[in-house]
Amino acid sequence: MSRERIMVVEDEESIQELIRYNLLREGFLVPVCCENGESALENAVTYKPDLILLDLMLPGMDGLTVCRNLKNDPATRRIPVIMLTAKSEESDIVIGLELGADDYITKPFSPKILTARIHAVLRRIAALAETPADEKELVRGPLHMNAVRRAASLDGHELDLTCSEFNILYHLAKRPGWVFTRSQIVNAVRGDDYPVTERAVDVQIVGLRRKMGGFGELIETVRGIGYRFTQEP
Ligand code: CA
Repeated sequence: MSRERIMVVEDEESIQELIRYNLLREGFLVPVCCENGESALENAVTYKPDLILLDLMLPGMDGLTVCRNLKNDPATRRIPVIMLTAKSEESDIVIGLELGADDYITKPFSPKILTARIHAVLRRIAALAETPADEKELVRGPLHMNAVRRAASLDGHELDLTCSEFNILYHLAKRPGWVFTRSQIVNAVRGDDYPVTERAVDVQIVGLRRKMGGFGELIETVRGIGYRFTQEP
């Protein structure tokens, strides 16, 4: 059973209680719940939780500001953050991901989704910690990439990729399951063969998927937000 410590930041008492109840039932520990951003920042430093569930719509300091502060403070920047958002807050989700949030859940959500997302983020963080930083050879299911030779193959068939296509695919595949916004992708691959724009990312993805044929679905479109490489089973 999991004993990770989750901090909940949610101003609506009934939702906060529901989340807490479900986390405890799932075997997580919930050392502290916060109703506003100020106490969230304080408690994050005091309790050093393994993960923070952060509602974006908070009275006073909003969730995005909380996220920015958490990710700017060396004491808290490594704590994964999952944003709790409304469906209508797509642009906030994009900003939050760019500020360093690790994932988001749109309200209303089921207890199943909640715990599945928490486990997924914790797994990804753990996998990332185990991956050597200088890993040049990347294997994700049928996809093999070598950053030194700049070679990519799918199911044993060599892929003929442009420089930008290679970089985008490598960036996504390096962190399977992670959602990247267009602007994050631009920042990661900028200025290799030509200046990449957010719109150009969409065009590159179309080209990539075409070249990947039946495996094109490995790159998943996250509507209104960006793209991700499908998490390995
Ligand atoms: Ca709220």
